[in-house]
Amino acid sequence: MRKVDLLIIGGGSAGLAAAVEAYDRGIRSIIIIERGAELGGILNQCIHNGFGLGEFKEELTGPEFAYRFAKQVQDRNIECHLLSTVTSVTPNKVVTYVNEEEGSVEVEAKAIIMAAGCYERNAGAIGVPGDRPAGVLTAGQAQLMINKFGYLCGKRIFILGSGDIGLIMARRFTLEGAKVLGVAEIMPYSNGLNRNIVQCLNDYDIPLYLSHTVSQVIGKKHVEKVEISQVDEKFRPIPGTEKVFDCDALVLSIGLIPNNTLLSDIGIKVSGTKGAEVDQYLQTSLPGVFSCGNVLHVHDLVDNVVKEARIAGESAARYIQGDLHVEEYDISCAAKDGVGYILPQHISGSDYEKVDFKLRVRKPTQNVYIEFIYNGETIKRVFKGVIIPSEMEVISLPLSLFKEKKGALEVKLTPKEVNQ
Ligand SMILES: Cc1cc2nc3c(=O)[nH]c(=O)nc-3n(C[C@H](O)[C@H](O)[C@H](O)COP(=O)(O)OP(=O)(O)OC[C@H]3O[C@@H](n4cnc5c(N)ncnc54)[C@H](O)[C@@H]3O)c2cc1C
Repeated sequence: MRKVDLLIIGGGSAGLAAAVEAYDRGIRSIIIIERGAELGGILNQCIHNGFGLGEFKEELTGPEFAYRFAKQVQDRNIECHLLSTVTSVTPNKVVTYVNEEEGSVEVEAKAIIMAAGCYERNAGAIGVPGDRPAGVLTAGQAQLMINKFGYLCGKRIFILGSGDIGLIMARRFTLEGAKVLGVAEIMPYSNGLNRNIVQCLNDYDIPLYLSHTVSQVIGKKHVEKVEISQVDEKFRPIPGTEKVFDCDALVLSIGLIPNNTLLSDIGIKVSGTKGAEVDQYLQTSLPGVFSCGNVLHVHDLVDNVVKEARIAGESAARYIQGDLHVEEYDISCAAKDGVGYILPQHISGSDYEKVDFKLRVRKPTQNVYIEFIYNGETIKRVFKGVIIPSEMEVISLPLSLFKEKKGALEVKLTPKEVNQ
C-alpha cells in the first residue's frame, strides 16, 4: 500500500491553502484528492467578484481566486488526483479513493486534512407540498448551469430561502434577462449578508417576503405556479394568506450542510455545526485528522476559509513532525443561550498564546454581551449593538485566562441592562 505523509480530501480553497501551508512548513509527501475535474471547488462556479479582498487586497472573481491558489499548488509540484473521489477513511488513516484510470486505490497517511466542503439542502429535505414537476432545483445547481454551461433554468423564477447563494442568484437571473418574482424566507429575517440584500434584491426591486414559505408547488410536467403563505410562530402556513405566482422554476436556497460523513462514519465526534468537533489546532477527536473550511462549518467569506486552512496545514505539518502539543490543556467549549455554535469545541495545548473563537448567534439580537464563562466565572464580555446569524464573529482570548488549564467554557448572550 502506498504511504504518504499528508493526504488532503478536497481541492477547494480550503484544501489548496492547507496544502501550500503544510508544504511551506517542510512537508513534501502530500497528495490532494479532488472529485471535480479542476482544482478550486465551489469558487469555480462563482463568477461574480468580491473574493480575495483580505487575501490579495484585490476584488477577484471566484475562478480568479481559485486559479491563484491552484498555481501555488502547481508551483510546489504538490501531487493532485482530479476526478477522484474519496470513498472511505479508516481509524488508522487508510484512505480509499476511486477514479477511472487507477480504479480503487488505498493510501496510508500519517495525517489527513478533511476539506470536502458542504452540500445544499434540497427539496426532499423540506418536503414542500404539491406536485413534483421538473424545474425545482437548488441555487447552487442553477448557478452551475448558468455560469459553467450557459443554461438559464427558467424565465420567471421564484426563490425560496434568502441565503447568500439565493440572493446572488436572484441578481444573476435578472442580469441574464429572467424575471425574479420574489424571494420567500421562512424566518422573520434574512439569512444572507446585508450587502447581498441591498446589492442583489433592493437594487433590482425584487421583493423579499419574510415569514413566508412555499405552501404548494403546482405543475404537471414542469413547474407552472408556486403558492406561498405567511407562517405562524411555529412556521405553519396561515390559511388565507396565500399568494400565487406564475413561474417556470423554483430555486431553493435553504441551507448548506458540511459534507462530513467520511469522518462521522468512523466515529469522529460531530459538533452542532454538523462538522467535526475540533480543538484550536483544528484536530478532530481522532489524532492526526484535521478539518477546515465548509466541511467544518459553513463560511460566507473565502478569506476566512483560507485563514482556517492555514492553521490546519500548519497543525498537520507539526503533527507529522512530532511537534504538536495537545496534552497541557483539557477544556471543553460549549454554546449556550442564544449562541448557535462555537468553535473550537476543545482547548488542548499551548502552542499558540491565544485562541480564536468563532461563533454565530441563533437569531438577530440587539444590545447584548457575548459572555465567556470559564469554570463558572466570567472571563470576557464583548458588547454588540447588533449581532446577526449571517455574520460569523471571531473573538480572540489569551490562553492565560484559562488558569486551571482544565474544565469548561460556556459562551452565551446576556442582555445589556438599561443602566449598564
Ligand atoms: C455560491 C457561493 C457564493 C459565495 N460568494 C462569496 C463571495 O462573494 N465572497 C467570498 O469571500 N466568499 C464567498 N463564498 C464563500 C467561499 O467561497 C466558500 O465558502 C469557500 O470557497 C469554500 O471552500 P471549501 O474548500 O471549504 O469548499 P469547496 O469549495 O466546496 O471545496 C470542497 C472540494 O471538495 C471536493 N470533494 C468533496 N467530497 C469529496 C470526496 N469525497 N472526494 C474528493 N473530493 C471531494 C469537492 O469536489 C470540492 O472541490 C461563496 C460560496 C458560495 C457557495
